[in-house]
Formats: sequence, C-alpha cells, structure tokens
Amino acid sequence: MSNDLLVEADLNGYFTRLSHRWEECLGWTREELMARPFRELIHPEDLEATLSRAEALDRRPGHVMDFENRYLAKDGSWRWLQWRARSDDHRKYAIARDVTERKRLEKEGLIRFELVESMARTDALTGLPNRRAWDEEVHEAVARAQHYERPLVLAMIDLDRFKGFNDAYGHGAGDALLKAAATNWRLALRTTDFLARYGGEEFGALLPECGPDEAIGVLARLRSMTPEAQTCSVGMAHWRPGDDTETLVKRADTALYEAKRQGRDRVVTAG
Ligand code: GH3
Ligand code: MG
Ligand code: MG
Repeated sequence: MSNDLLVEADLNGYFTRLSHRWEECLGWTREELMARPFRELIHPEDLEATLSRAEALDRRPGHVMDFENRYLAKDGSWRWLQWRARSDDHRKYAIARDVTERKRLEKEGLIRFELVESMARTDALTGLPNRRAWDEEVHEAVARAQHYERPLVLAMIDLDRFKGFNDAYGHGAGDALLKAAATNWRLALRTTDFLARYGGEEFGALLPECGPDEAIGVLARLRSMTPEAQTCSVGMAHWRPGDDTETLVKRADTALYEAKRQGRDRVVTAG
C-alpha cells in the first residue's frame, strides 16, 4: 500500500521486481518496465551520473546511496525521482519517490525570486537601475578603481528648473520627459558605463576607465541629448587615491551645487 516506488534490479541492469505504484507513476506496465535495460528510460542528462552511482553501489555492497534523476513516462513526459538504493552481491534494491511536483514548485519559486530581485533594483518609471542599485554599484566601482588603480568618474546629473516644466506642462509630461531623458542619456554612454535614477529628477552616472578630457566630451554629448530643449546641470568628480564612496559622491554633489549656482546648463568638475 506504500506510495513509495519499490524496485529490485539485477546486475545486468534490468528491473526484476516492481511495486504496482510504478504503473501509476510512469504509465508503463511492470512487464514493459522489466523488458528493457532501465538505463533506456533515464533522461540523457542524468544518465552518466546515474550509471556511476549504480557502479559505485555494486562496488560497495550494503552501502546506501541517495540520488535524483528523471525517468521517461509512457506519455513522453519526464518524472523526477528521488532514490535511496543499496546492493548486495546479487541485486540492487531501491525505494524511489516521485518529486516532480516539488521540483516544479522549486523552479517557479526561483523564477519569482529573481523577478522580485530585479524589481527591487529597477526604477519603475524609467527602467533604469534605482537608488539601491546605484549605491551598490558605486561601492563596487570604487573598490575596483582602488584595487586596480584605474580611472573612474562619478557624475551627478539634475534637470534644470524641472518644477517649472511640471507646472507648465503637467505632471504626465514631466514623467514623459524623465523617461525620454533616461533613454537618451543612456544612449550617450558606453555600455560599460552605469546610469541610474538617483531620485526625483536627479541621476547618477559612473564612467569607469574614463580620463579627464574624455569625461568632459562624454558629458557634453549627454547634456546635448536632453529632450524637449530642456537643460541639465552636472557635477563630476574623478576618483582620487584615498577617496572612499562617501567622499567621491560628496565631491560630485558639491560640484553639482556649484553648477546650479553658476547659472545651470553646465558641467562643473570637482576640485
Ligand atoms: P533646479 O534647477 O534647481 O534643479 O530646479 P528644479 O525645479 O529642477 O528643482 P527642485 O528640486 O526645486 O524641484 C524638482 C522637481 O522635480 C519637483 C518635483 O515635482 C519634480 N519631480 C521629482 N520627481 C518627479 C517625477 O517622478 N515625476 C515628475 N513629473 N516630476 C518629478
Ligand atoms: Mg532639478
Ligand atoms: Mg533635484
């Protein structure tokens, strides 16, 4: 009456006795299951591992082994089986359990987890990495710059008088502008650069491997791609030996503040 699948196999690789549950599980009759070597029903990707388990069992009589593999059902589907097996000098004995449903749930759970993970790092409006992803990336980029002594530029970008744009054209138009700016600015950068929505109408860019002159060119191009004839201000800071994340961000912030103070629509480089 057991739900477990009980089986005996001979040393030639054939099943010799099977409990009736096997017929429900795989759809084959017990006669069909005993008529051919059991290896023919094992999923190709699991075959090598299973056969090496079977050999190991034969080498160590009395030793118990646990493993999983997929078996072909009569309807063409694959059933995941979880095995506990041992052998004596004449036969292998095993109990198997159908864990297909558990495997399916595990897989779905993993997919949901990955989706939630990526949502937690993405800004819903622009599709860019969000503040959380930005903070992590800045940490990693600074660590890399430090470790390999490579150049790194951090830029803070803020739309100019965006409140006025919202007031004049409405919040929906403001949202559309943020989206378009994100798309255009992303195109102005290399794929190895990082652009994130820091919050509101403020964005952050990381340009690894970027020297001082090059950075000025890249950020000029980025500013020129601001949509709807709007402008933005940029504060940028080159990583210097000894800069940690906090000091680098602070220097870029101060430069952005200075760009606003000087009249906006410009890039200011931190001293
Ligand atoms: P400044 O040139 O000094 O940066 O002026 P500003 O008006 O851009 O700056 P301020 O910080 O005074 O205002 C920012 C505005 O950005 C206010 C807010 O309504 C708008 N804003 C922030 N997030 C969003 C958003 O998600 N959608 C829209 N439509 N507007 C936003
Ligand atoms: Mg602004
Ligand atoms: Mg702002």
